[in-house]
Amino acid sequence: MNQKQRDELASGWGDSVQWDVDMADYSTLRAGGMADALVDVQNLDELRNLLCRLEELQVSCRVIGRGSNVLVSEQGYRGVIIRLQGELNSVTRLDEENKSGNPVVIKAGAGCSMSLLVSWCTGHGLTGLEFMVGIPGSVGGAVWMNGGAWGHEIGERLQAIEFVDYSGHLLVVPVSELKLLYRKLDLKEGDLEKRIISSATFALSPGREEQIRVRCEQYLGRRRGKQPTGAASAGSFFKNPPGDSAGRLIEAAGLKGTSCGQAMVSTVHANFIINTGRATAADIVALMQQVQDVVFQEFGVRLEPEVEIL
Ligand SMILES: Cc1cc2nc3c(=O)[nH]c(=O)nc-3n(C[C@H](O)[C@H](O)[C@H](O)COP(=O)(O)OP(=O)(O)OC[C@H]3O[C@@H](n4cnc5c(N)ncnc54)[C@H](O)[C@@H]3O)c2cc1C
Repeated sequence: MNQKQRDELASGWGDSVQWDVDMADYSTLRAGGMADALVDVQNLDELRNLLCRLEELQVSCRVIGRGSNVLVSEQGYRGVIIRLQGELNSVTRLDEENKSGNPVVIKAGAGCSMSLLVSWCTGHGLTGLEFMVGIPGSVGGAVWMNGGAWGHEIGERLQAIEFVDYSGHLLVVPVSELKLLYRKLDLKEGDLEKRIISSATFALSPGREEQIRVRCEQYLGRRRGKQPTGAASAGSFFKNPPGDSAGRLIEAAGLKGTSCGQAMVSTVHANFIINTGRATAADIVALMQQVQDVVFQEFGVRLEPEVEIL
């Protein structure tokens, strides 16, 4: 952002803007370059107004959730990173009376953490999203990525998404108009780029709280056994190629434990790149490219990153 854009944004948004932000603090990889600015918005009106203002100023922007699937490159992000807070973190049940046996519809703000959503559902005796437990993202990030685990994807429970485009217009799109792809959500007509999901509605079923809790514990237990715990990572770094597993290919290529600077291919799960200390975004990208090259040489498969590099 140039100085004029900074001055214009500061007038009106001054109190909400953090300037020259180290994005390592906002990524579960604990690495990343600098962003020109970071703004927390507290409600839908603020989000719409901010997007309009940025459009007028011709300033680029990206939204992040919990930063568990993004890495800001070493060059940094020239523009504004937006985070959804306040009212955009809430969860509400839309149909208080559900006597007919229909699914129960809930609405979750895109900024809400997945762990909060799953525990809210558990506490309200609603089943259907337990498989998402342990995914350290936000509702918006999970929906954007069509995240999932154990053979399920969040899109299975999605009813509609509400989003705001970069001109500040609000739209609600039912799931029938969405394409639920592997680790990607899109519109059947048009595309979701340059749109920020503000909330999502999910169709769930009534269930017994105790049983839901037990299922969550089982999923968490399976995770503990298979993934590196305690290490900074972004979960699976690469998408699984059709009919195969990225982790299997990386392991078979003998890459477990390979490092670049302080970024390392996990010895526990080959599809996890972990930050063993003070890895930079450049270390992580260099290791990513090395993994891609070696896997391609060995098996002729080009792995595509699941982690988004901004
Ligand atoms: C230990 C660990 C385990 C993981 N396990 C899994 C797993 O089992 N399954 C799985 O799917 N993922 C997994 N992940 C990856 C990650 O947690 C998920 O992809 C998560 O859904 C990302 O959410 P986020 O809020 O952190 O998104 P971010 O990383 O902040 O953003 C990811 C992308 O989503 C976009 N985005 C975020 N919010 C919005 C919004 N409101 N509107 C539009 N776009 C948005 C961002 O611009 C970015 O492009 C794991 C990560 C870790 C660290």
